[in-house]
Amino acid sequence: MALAYIGLGSNLDQPVAQIRRALEAFAGHQGARLLKASRLYRSPPMGPKDQPDYINAVALIDTPMQALELLHALQGIERKLGRVRLRHWGERLIDLDLLMYADVCMHSDELTLPHPGIPERAFVLRPLADLNPDLIIPGLAPLAELLAARADDTCTVVEDGA
Ligand code: ATP
Ligand code: CA
Ligand code: CA
Repeated sequence: MALAYIGLGSNLDQPVAQIRRALEAFAGHQGARLLKASRLYRSPPMGPKDQPDYINAVALIDTPMQALELLHALQGIERKLGRVRLRHWGERLIDLDLLMYADVCMHSDELTLPHPGIPERAFVLRPLADLNPDLIIPGLAPLAELLAARADDTCTVVEDGA
């Protein structure tokens, strides 16, 4: 079994409910187990500004799948939950990024690990800190260091899942 961190994001059709649906979808999916989920966070869109705010979270799972297999499983869950690709960094029902898989560092056309967006995204760093504040991002830096560099970014906890 390997530990993996999954980044979840949604900004369409009741995003909080979409994140919850996706978390439920991990449970038992091809032997994966949901170990922990972060709080939910709200932040302004990263790409085009004419779209709703995002709700994000991070989940820690353990899985018997290899990294690429897991990426494909996540893409399968995105499709099952109804994700349609519109525009780059545009609105989406659900986005599941494989942030880290064990301590694997790799780069291929299909999969980069750790996910290259981690250092500049407060909406990934803050939920990661909920799960493990002492985390070292493989091949990169301690989470605490990356967090400090993004301290001014807008990204707030969603109280009571509202
Ligand atoms: P970003 O990757 O910057 O967060 P995005 O999530 O909007 O942007 P997608 O359209 O969901 O991007 O994915 C584009 C491609 O990224 C996928 O087809 C996938 O092969 C590739 N990819 C590479 N590394 C990863 C990873 N660690 N997790 C998820 N997808 C990845
Ligand atoms: Ca993404
Ligand atoms: Ca993605």
